[in-house]
Amino acid sequence: MSKHNHDTPFAENTRLIHAGRAPEKFGGAVNIPPFRASTVLFPTLAELDAYDPALRSVRYGRTGNPSSHAFEAGMTELEEGHDAVSYPSGLQAITSSLLAFTRHGDHVLIADTAYAPTRNFANGILSRAGVMVEYFDPGIGAGIAALLRPATRVVFLESPGSLTFEVQDVPAIVGAVASANPDIVLMMDNTWAAGLLFKPLKHGVHIAIQSATKYVGGHSDVSLGIAVCARPNHWLRLKKASIELGACASADDLFLGLRGLRSLPVRMRRHHESGLRVAHWLAARPEVTRVRHPGLSSCPGHETWKRDFAGACGLFAFEMAPTPRPAMAAMVDGMAHFGMGYSWGGFESLILPSNPSSLRSAVPWTGGELVRLHVGLEDVEDLIADLDAGFARLNAALEQA
Ligand SMILES: *Cc1c(COP(=O)(O)O)cnc(C)c1O
Repeated sequence: MSKHNHDTPFAENTRLIHAGRAPEKFGGAVNIPPFRASTVLFPTLAELDAYDPALRSVRYGRTGNPSSHAFEAGMTELEEGHDAVSYPSGLQAITSSLLAFTRHGDHVLIADTAYAPTRNFANGILSRAGVMVEYFDPGIGAGIAALLRPATRVVFLESPGSLTFEVQDVPAIVGAVASANPDIVLMMDNTWAAGLLFKPLKHGVHIAIQSATKYVGGHSDVSLGIAVCARPNHWLRLKKASIELGACASADDLFLGLRGLRSLPVRMRRHHESGLRVAHWLAARPEVTRVRHPGLSSCPGHETWKRDFAGACGLFAFEMAPTPRPAMAAMVDGMAHFGMGYSWGGFESLILPSNPSSLRSAVPWTGGELVRLHVGLEDVEDLIADLDAGFARLNAALEQA
């Protein structure tokens, strides 16, 4: 029983244009204005006394307002769920969801390729609260059944991993967990797919979480998170926890998140096309030992990606032979279009040398020197020329050494 109707005759990109809007309530304006609201006034004592403390009401800015309700409606449409809770960051959407469903003595299974700050929280506050945290091989599939314990409360997926890009067999994991114990809550960090390329809730995941800081915001100027629930009881629990924790996103960020949602399908198509083009170009380079892009058959989980995903975003990585730091610097310091920095999902391209070794525990990292790319919306031939010049600087530095 979804309060949102996903069974309209309209295509997804059309539905995302309408989601969360209410021009009739706001003087005809196409967009809902950002609600900068903390205090909400009750005109009479009678109305204060009669106030219905429903979790969707507007009584105090922090607990929900037209800006958060509109963004949540838009993201619920995207993830095809029942309802959503918004957060000031993707990480807080993750940490609040884990806290909301666990207690002392519970056991939680997390994909070994999970986003590093997710691990950091699980190994820190969550473990100190007495929750047993265990990481699983992203390639485990139905084999996850062997890791389930009577105390297992949450299974947390993220596919593909945002550094090494292994694709999980989500249907197999969900099927095995649900048939072993239907009370286990299945959560998935769906940031890579941006809610567009993969639909966790359709596959039986209960809570789809995203850093809307990435593709939904899309312009590198927002910090925003979302958790979309398939079930009303899960939503109620998340919403109550968010009120207990005091999580509330800024009205301006919520406004920009909803604004980003309108153009998400168009931007993602371009990220998909340019990303694949760059990935294939890299695969033919002598410096590159392997491209970790789920759209390439060389990537672990490629077949699963082909089966389950509607496309790829612009985030992937490539491996090289061990590279001395000065040679790596010669390549990445001189890029014209690829900026060096964390995050991704904006309009601009990024490059980031990284070492996943310390971020794995279930399966050790055995790959080579890893460089992560975010392929943005620039002209793809300009991006390839930038990488080509980067490899030339790398080779010159290696020859000098
Ligand atoms: C960035 C990111 C997050 C956290 O999002 P913030 O909005 O930066 O807190 C979570 N998961 C993944 C996969 C991310 O890349």
